[in-house]
Amino acid sequence: MFVSMKEMLIHAHENGYAVMAVNCVNMEQVKACIEGAEEECSPIILNISPRQMREHGHSYALPPVVKSMAERAGVPVAFNLDHGSAYEDFVTALKAGFSSVMIDASACEFEENVRRTQMIAALAHGCGKSCEAELGHVGNAEAGDEANTDYYTNPEQAKEFVDRTHCDCLAVAIGTAHGSYPKGMVPKLDFERLALLKKTLNMPLVLHGGSGAGEENIRRAVACGINKINVNTDVMAHAVEEIKAALKENPDYNYMDLCMRTEDAMKDFIRRYMRMIGSSMRYTFSRPEGPELD
Ligand SMILES: [Zn+2]
Repeated sequence: MFVSMKEMLIHAHENGYAVMAVNCVNMEQVKACIEGAEEECSPIILNISPRQMREHGHSYALPPVVKSMAERAGVPVAFNLDHGSAYEDFVTALKAGFSSVMIDASACEFEENVRRTQMIAALAHGCGKSCEAELGHVGNAEAGDEANTDYYTNPEQAKEFVDRTHCDCLAVAIGTAHGSYPKGMVPKLDFERLALLKKTLNMPLVLHGGSGAGEENIRRAVACGINKINVNTDVMAHAVEEIKAALKENPDYNYMDLCMRTEDAMKDFIRRYMRMIGSSMRYTFSRPEGPELD
């Protein structure tokens, strides 16, 4: 069923687990996510960023696919705009039927971040949708941003931010970064800060830059209060590895078979990840009533 990300994450917050948010740019990824979630009886969030929508999964093309599959899913599925920043991104997403939007003004000064987040949270809530925001700044692994503690989220400032903006969940900076970490490097996360953020805010918290952060870090982050984990690079990397392996086995692989094999590889990874972050078996599988679409 197609649901609000707000209620989904409140359930995760109250029950101490996290939900995967996977960036999807095509139908195979959407299927891998939703079928993986159904097989695990887990909730799932599908993310699309403005750049991904502009360059490949266009707003008139991929969102209808996501909505159609989400509506007939036997587990809760939410649909979130990832890292929106320009005003038109939000209007496009809300018109296209996303159930949630993320406003990322984390590179701005505090007051400007508050101002922009207030505006987008009000717009989303007025449309009956939820809003994710970011305070502190989750930078890029290639730039080594994870080690810059100046970017980390300050708990007292975060409390003021949430009180003033009314965002529904908050992405925090505790030592992860977007993209791929240098080979062999595992980021060091500030779990004390995370536990204090959870205690101070008592709301769903989000971890960006989850890819490549290591199983131990992810498990501990969930135990300390993370309820949504964005995974983009890891899922796409599994797809690429599977394509390479398939073409090595047989350079004349049939294209549809290649798509299906890639989808299965992503689904396997997603299912394992769901078990790791505790979202498996949280819901009873129940196909919504309606026309059989198979
Ligand atoms: Zn992110």
